Amino acid sequence: MNLANGMELTPPDGQRFRFDPGALCLEFLLTGGEGELARWERLHRPDDLAAWIAHSRAGITGPCPVTADELASARRLRAAVQRLAARAATGSRDLPEPDLAVLNEIAAAPPPVPVIGPGLERSWASPVTGAQFLSAVARDAIELFGGPDLDRVRMCAGERCYLLFLDTSRPGTRRWCSMDRCGNRRKLRTRRDRNPPG
Ligand SMILES: [Zn+2]
Repeated sequence: MNLANGMELTPPDGQRFRFDPGALCLEFLLTGGEGELARWERLHRPDDLAAWIAHSRAGITGPCPVTADELASARRLRAAVQRLAARAATGSRDLPEPDLAVLNEIAAAPPPVPVIGPGLERSWASPVTGAQFLSAVARDAIELFGGPDLDRVRMCAGERCYLLFLDTSRPGTRRWCSMDRCGNRRKLRTRRDRNPPG
């Protein structure tokens, strides 16, 4: 039920672009983070997470009430996924155990319940709780870090771009968050280097 279409991002320079992180748990990192990433924080109140979930690739269209405790869990889960993905993107298989334990703890809660309608359309039993959504994210992360796609977790090769994604391209050669963003910048730079002004 993944709606694999990515999200529109607007960095400080204002150039909007579409970024497809390729997996729900990596998309969840777009809500912000700790340290350097705190300036991207989007989850200030429980309602912020509820609103974000509606735009995520999880395909949850109905109400998704979020409590303050669930928001705290969301931040903890996000920090764990961030560290795990950044480490995996270096090619390391030595992933921090405390972060893996956070995935296990949060995945232990029941996930959203799938339902099928009379027109054979699939959706989730409503309402989906914040804990159910977080369980789905944690389960997605377990699938990613414990499965064959681990080798395809990448960090954008762009300068000062730290976006993490799952490379779902067939040859496994995706290097950029987006061709419209970092890919294009590199192309322009290469062209400039070949034909230096003056
Ligand atoms: Zn990038």
